[in-house]
Amino acid sequence: CGIVGYFGKERAAEILVDGLEKLEYRGYDSSGIAVFQNGDIDVIKCKGRIQNLRDRLESEDMSGVKGIGHTRWATHGEPSDLNAHPHTNKDGSISIVHNGIIENYMYLKEWLGGKGYEFLSETDTEVIPNLIDYYYNGDLFEAIVKATNKMEGSYAIGVLCKNEPDKMIAVRKDSPLIVGKGEGETFIASDVTAVLKYTREVYYIDDNEFAVIDNDGVKILNEDGIEIDKEISHITWDA
Ligand code: GLU
Repeated sequence: CGIVGYFGKERAAEILVDGLEKLEYRGYDSSGIAVFQNGDIDVIKCKGRIQNLRDRLESEDMSGVKGIGHTRWATHGEPSDLNAHPHTNKDGSISIVHNGIIENYMYLKEWLGGKGYEFLSETDTEVIPNLIDYYYNGDLFEAIVKATNKMEGSYAIGVLCKNEPDKMIAVRKDSPLIVGKGEGETFIASDVTAVLKYTREVYYIDDNEFAVIDNDGVKILNEDGIEIDKEISHITWDA
């Protein structure tokens, strides 16, 4: 029921889990994170308390500095390790977190199934990384635009792609999404409270706006790839 993302120079895992704890009030039944690690994307996810995720992290060497995280409130598929986010395509090269509901996921599952795609979870969400995979032709932004054009329903999603390790992309429709702009680091989250500890400079992303994050910071683009002149908000209140 909440997403977070971190793109910077510090260990992402700790910052992501910390952000997820700030979103606990939204309610959740599972949590998970995905982090760029040695040329791959490592995923850890489990049912239950965020403390379970913390315990799992203790035995992992997750030192990567870019990643995404999720607290799940199950809408399709029971709460389980398998149904927890992040979800990936078959070879794990595309990893996503999703808050919301993909209304036409049955149709998309069948459509993708006809093209040889297989699904491991019971979630509506799993169609998203597979749709992006289907459209991916070397340009992650373009693939996400095409995928979201096929999706009906509500979503705030954060995406990582193994082939584009210097990028993180987020987009929303009818689910909340903000981008926090720090010094040499950028955050995404469902809610400002998840990033306030790190920055007070925030963009409120509107429907069908894409936040494309790289080492130079963030650009907010429309689906044609044209930059939107967004006003930054300075948060003065404390959580
Ligand atoms: N519909 C998705 C699921 O059930 C996402 C739920 C959420 O927003 O946490 O996995």
